[in-house]
Amino acid sequence: MTKLNSMQTDNKKRANDYVHEVYELVKKRNPDEKEFLQATREIFDSLRPVFAKHPEYIANGILERITEPERIITFRVAWEDDQGKVHVNRGFRVQFNSDLGPYKGGIRFHPSVNSSIMKFLAFEQIFKNALTGQPIGAGKGGSDFDPKGKSDREIMRFTQSFITELSKYIGPDRDVPAGDIGVGKREIGYMFGQYNRLKGGYEAGVFTGKDPNHGGSLGRKEATGYGTVYFVEEMLKEKNLSFDGQTVVVSGSGNVSTYAMEKAIQLGAKVVACSDSGGYIYDKNGIDLDTVKRLKEVENKRISDYTKDHADAEYHEDCSGIWSIPCDIALPCATQNEIDEIAASMLVTNSVKAIGEGANMPCTLEAMALFHENGILFGPAKAANAGGVAVSAMEMSQNSMRLSWTTEEVDEKLHLVMKNIYVSCMDAAERFGHPGNLVMGANIAGFLKVADAMVAHGLS
Ligand code: GLU
Repeated sequence: MTKLNSMQTDNKKRANDYVHEVYELVKKRNPDEKEFLQATREIFDSLRPVFAKHPEYIANGILERITEPERIITFRVAWEDDQGKVHVNRGFRVQFNSDLGPYKGGIRFHPSVNSSIMKFLAFEQIFKNALTGQPIGAGKGGSDFDPKGKSDREIMRFTQSFITELSKYIGPDRDVPAGDIGVGKREIGYMFGQYNRLKGGYEAGVFTGKDPNHGGSLGRKEATGYGTVYFVEEMLKEKNLSFDGQTVVVSGSGNVSTYAMEKAIQLGAKVVACSDSGGYIYDKNGIDLDTVKRLKEVENKRISDYTKDHADAEYHEDCSGIWSIPCDIALPCATQNEIDEIAASMLVTNSVKAIGEGANMPCTLEAMALFHENGILFGPAKAANAGGVAVSAMEMSQNSMRLSWTTEEVDEKLHLVMKNIYVSCMDAAERFGHPGNLVMGANIAGFLKVADAMVAHGLS
């Protein structure tokens, strides 16, 4: 063995030992936090080649530091329903990393919310936000409150109570929340109103995802879904493919899903299925998006009602069955771990060509491994769904400048951000010895930006 070769082997071993040691520490410190451990595992596996080349990150304890949130705020949210009954929910804000800018990330209202889910989402946000190239740190918040079946007034009272406590810890230069599952422009509007009331002034940049008529950015609602399709478009180009003429399955029917479907259809694809938490619809003629938008955005109905207007369409109650539908492109846009190994193998058997993760961590590690083994194009969430937070950062800029960009201006910038993310992921994957592997590329490219800032800012 030459001297250089043996040095490389030593560095590799040191990197592997370091990653192993820190992962054991993370497991010990966060027992039972299965989603958080899943998200860290994926990152750790990608970073081995980085530590082999950059011992300075080991010396600076970057992995130990980056996996421990800077701060976690947990609080009681008491509120009264329309019958005068008192309820108590738990509120969270995980302020994970502020080396690139103010904490930035959404708020989720869903009964499944717990510390593990909040931490995995905030952790993913570190790398995603870094990939956008914008000056934003990472955070996530939410509550185990279930908005389903609640009246508008109940939503308002809960949201006001939630933000009354959280207002002590956020601000335009400190922490800028936005929406996520169960939180849209209505909830952001109530939070914004209450925050300003408490502060005695108008701080436009404290939230993003506001109504474009009241301080929000045009194009924010569409941004995550459009961005996912723009990213997958870049992946397809590599294989001389496009959305034109492809059959697409998109899970979910919220913001991300609706606008992923809209952009895919605009680019010539046929979207044949979408879902909600109750089940999925399959319309072999192609989903009629106007019906989905009316049901979900206006009437607040279930996706099962789609079949009332489209007699040819089928409704099935088992959500995961959506992945048994043969398609060329699958866009999981609903929630974490919705594609497990079984769903992934159905997609592979049906010759899927590409997967684009519109939701956060929708594929399990086993599902991702299966796609990788079978050479399926795979756009990981941190890169593919970064368009939402990228336009949120644009909303912060517009709020600071006190001006509004047009829909076209925002869309053009979004498109450019998604193309740039694709290029930096491909480039990082190539540089660290895994050409074409966008999971490795996204994790490495995002990590390098934050790690360099953490070294520059000294121990904290
Ligand atoms: N919740 C979204 C995400 O997962 C958006 C966050 C934001 O706009 O701050 O990235």
